[in-house]
Amino acid sequence: MAEVRLTGVWKMFGDFAAVKDMNLHVKDGEFMILLGPSGCGKTTTLRMISGLEEPTKGQIYIGDKLVADPEKGIFVPPKDRDIAMVFQSYALYPHMTVYDNIAFPLKLRKVPKQEIDQRVREVAELLGLTELLKRKPRELSGGQRQRVALGRAIVRKPQVFLMDEPLSNLDAKLRVKMRAELKRLQRQLGVTTIYVTHDQVEAMTMGDRIAVINAGVLQQVGTPDEVYDRPANTFVAGFIGSPPMNFMNATITEDGFADFGEFRLKFLPDQFEVLEERNLVGKEVIFGIRPEDIYDAMFAQVKVPGENMVRAMVEIIENLGSEKIVHLRVGGVTFLGAFRSESKVREGQEVDVVFDMRKAHTFEKKNGKAIF
Ligand code: ATP
Repeated sequence: MAEVRLTGVWKMFGDFAAVKDMNLHVKDGEFMILLGPSGCGKTTTLRMISGLEEPTKGQIYIGDKLVADPEKGIFVPPKDRDIAMVFQSYALYPHMTVYDNIAFPLKLRKVPKQEIDQRVREVAELLGLTELLKRKPRELSGGQRQRVALGRAIVRKPQVFLMDEPLSNLDAKLRVKMRAELKRLQRQLGVTTIYVTHDQVEAMTMGDRIAVINAGVLQQVGTPDEVYDRPANTFVAGFIGSPPMNFMNATITEDGFADFGEFRLKFLPDQFEVLEERNLVGKEVIFGIRPEDIYDAMFAQVKVPGENMVRAMVEIIENLGSEKIVHLRVGGVTFLGAFRSESKVREGQEVDVVFDMRKAHTFEKKNGKAIF
């Protein structure tokens, strides 16, 4: 096992910077997720850790070993980095049995036959593949094939697993199942794992910590709770959570309200204190609140009429069964609420909605950085 460290890592493709000044410390045994939209540089980062790509600048350490530093002319090839990779398209050898597919990396390394047999059987047991060892890949389901690919990665007992969207070819139901299996397996093995995904649900459910990346720049590294509850900026706030956080322009009033023009909401005393300290009274901020923190007043637990309640027009209702996503409007201000399924709201009617101000966020207007 090993920690993985990136310091000041850049990757240029011609003039284009795919990864910009990345500093990331993945702890020994940690499950770290690299999360971000398509093209943000997740795969490029992973490929630099694996050695499939060379950084343009900066250092990469696996354990104590410096594996890449272009300034010093250091570049350790993938086969000498003691890592195992699992990709989206898990290419198994079609003519080989499950047993031989899993055994293959050990055969390559000339591990004695008896040890190979023991390790393949251990891994098969761990992954529930024991009954399938004699089958060929075409005789397996998608999930079983993906487990064989995982087996092939873990049989070597590498120091680090690198995974690039390994579940994205599976159907939704199987993905949920494999998510839990993979997480359990990683806990059991305790191997440092770096896992690339653009799926925030995958990130939230599997990661010990999540590194959120946008346009080649690391935005925030934190536990799922931290990135959800205390996003560092509007990008992270908007990317984590579904439906996404509502953002509304607000002016901070002297008496401690967020003024949206059409209506006002009162900050809690400690929130207003922060805004006063930052000299934001009379100024504009971006106010953020998640749809799940806006309630139909009929069902709200945080009722303080007149201070955090407003009458809104219901424009559209998306009924998800477990909850209702309600598109709301107050004058020119629009936002989403995630209401309990019992809510009796109707499209085209008005409803009193309550904002849970304990869950309110504010961000600087100029750069989107979180104030609280
Ligand atoms: P996705 O989720 O779509 O796979 P990603 O976050 O993994 O996206 P990368 O594959 O790391 O993104 O790509 C980051 C950026 O670098 C993209 O804009 C991509 O077009 C560019 N890029 C990647 N590889 C190369 C290359 N070999 N040559 C030129 N540009 C590249």
